[in-house]
This record gives sequence, structure tokens and C-alpha cells, in this order.
Amino acid sequence: MECTRCGACCVAPDIAALDKPLGMRCPHLTPENLCSVYDRRPQVCRSYEPDEVCKLIEAPTLEERVQKYLALFGLSAEAEATRQTGCASMRQARGTKP
Ligand code: SF4
Ligand code: SF4
Repeated sequence: MECTRCGACCVAPDIAALDKPLGMRCPHLTPENLCSVYDRRPQVCRSYEPDEVCKLIEAPTLEERVQKYLALFGLSAEAEATRQTGCASMRQARGTKP
């Protein structure tokens, strides 16, 4: 399976090492869907390899691919909740209630 640089795996999953919430674009992802910190990206990004998921989530737009990815793993509702309330760890960092 070849990576098409579609960007979905840098948007859809939550990445603890980056404190990146579910369904939100990694701040290091450039508009061209390239990694701006490629040489110092976390291990979890280094070990990520394209697989059949990349094929299953194919769609014309990044937003659609992200939605398909989240649906595939049953994470759509959680991602929507995150979108509405923000990331738990960010709230914690700001000292606000969960
Ligand atoms: S989802 Fe798959 S095809 Fe898209 S950027 Fe990630 S590894 Fe590459
Ligand atoms: S650090 Fe780079 S490879 Fe990892 S999610 Fe962000 S943009 Fe993608």
C-alpha cells in the first residue's frame, strides 16, 4: 500500500505524544499535507505505515476522508464531542473544569 499523502492520518486520530485531539488537524501538517517537523516527529508518527485503512477511507476531500476514518473506528461521536468542548488535556492545562 502506497501513501498518497492524503493527510488523514495526521488529522483523524488522537496523538497523545502531540496532545493532538481526535479529528483535529496536527499543527505541524502543512497546507500541502506534509510534516513540517519530519526530522523530529514523534515515534508514533515514525512507525505509522500506510495500510488497508488508507484505501477504505478514500474520498475526494480531506474532511470526508477524516470522517470516514473516524466512522471506521466508531469514533465519530467522540470526535464531534471533542470538537464542541475542546480537548480534555487542554482544558486541564488551562485549569478549567472538565
Ligand atoms: S491516511 Fe494513509 S495514504 Fe493518507 S497520508 Fe496517512 S498513510 Fe498516507
Ligand atoms: S507530527 Fe508530522 S507526521 Fe506527526 S501527525 Fe503531525 S504532521 Fe503528521
